[in-house]
Amino acid sequence: MDRVSFSSLSSFLADEPGILIRKNVPVSMLTSIRIGGNAALTLTPRDGGCLIRLLDRLSHAGILYRVIGNGTNLIGPDAGYGGALIPTAGIDRISVSGSTLVTGAGVPLGRAIRRAMEAGLSGLEALYGIPGTVGGALYMTAGAFGHTVSERLRYATVYRPASGEVTVKTPRSLDFGYRTGAIRREGTVVLSAAFSLTPDAPERIARRMSEIIEKRRATHPIDLPSAGSFFRRPDPDRPVGRLIADAGCAGMTEGGAAVSTMHAGFIVNTGGATESDVRRLAERVRERVAGKYGIELQTEVEYLSDLGAYQTGEA
Ligand SMILES: Cc1cc2nc3c(=O)[nH]c(=O)nc-3n(C[C@H](O)[C@H](O)[C@H](O)COP(=O)(O)OP(=O)(O)OC[C@H]3O[C@@H](n4cnc5c(N)ncnc54)[C@H](O)[C@@H]3O)c2cc1C
Repeated sequence: MDRVSFSSLSSFLADEPGILIRKNVPVSMLTSIRIGGNAALTLTPRDGGCLIRLLDRLSHAGILYRVIGNGTNLIGPDAGYGGALIPTAGIDRISVSGSTLVTGAGVPLGRAIRRAMEAGLSGLEALYGIPGTVGGALYMTAGAFGHTVSERLRYATVYRPASGEVTVKTPRSLDFGYRTGAIRREGTVVLSAAFSLTPDAPERIARRMSEIIEKRRATHPIDLPSAGSFFRRPDPDRPVGRLIADAGCAGMTEGGAAVSTMHAGFIVNTGGATESDVRRLAERVRERVAGKYGIELQTEVEYLSDLGAYQTGEA
């Protein structure tokens, strides 16, 4: 992969003061599992308008890029990332109008849910504790405890680099499924989202949020870096962690990567884990589960190094 030539962008960036530029940023600092060599560039736009102009420019220059949220579903490449990573942290507006919550793509889900609670609006509590952003959650169709981020979605504003179009999409047109959907398939970028919520007393909402966090603390290895549940459920009624534990994989290690003994669905970084450790370990888990149950596990997390041509504007 070619390293980004900063000079090919410098005149554009000079005219765009709303973009924070950093060179040679460790991807390990941008991912919750703390893995990955340096990204040639990170370009952090301060709002959706800057993001669109930036993606347009990168597409025209043929520079590989990836929009990222909190990096909580990503494994960074050992060899680093030769393109530009575009964190959405600056797209962080949030507002409430009646029973609708509108958020920028870079708003962390937790912040969105707390804002809704303060406004006495319920409906997203089950997602409390998912550490991603609203944009990342819509891309992944994130969900927990029987609920998904798509259920209360009223509309999402998305940008399609390939055509240069900004459109407002209804949940129906986004075709959400289990950890998949049109946003993921079509390479569109989420700019913002609106959720239709239900009035309720803030204290009751807060109580439900606490209950959810307690459940997570009791079952998830949140004291070690991870990217959440590593594999997809093979079917909706089959918790993948149980399956992996029953296949005898809990505690298996490769280098610094380990299958969590608390929740075998998580691969954790016990210190100094690399992408190749994670890949080798995941392969061993896959082989064990296939050998014992005849089930081919599919990866839920994404390896940044496998996301090559996507979001280059050619999708
Ligand atoms: C401790 C822990 C617990 C977790 N629990 C859950 C859980 O209960 N349920 C669940 O579903 N997930 C869970 N996850 C996984 C993860 O938090 C979710 O998948 C989350 O939605 C990812 O959001 P993110 O902002 O971190 O996305 P990132 O990891 O930054 O990116 C993931 C993908 O989304 C794309 N993306 C990011 N932002 C945008 C955007 N604005 N537009 C288009 N594409 C975008 C990226 O390019 C990438 O392909 C957990 C993770 C951890 C570490």
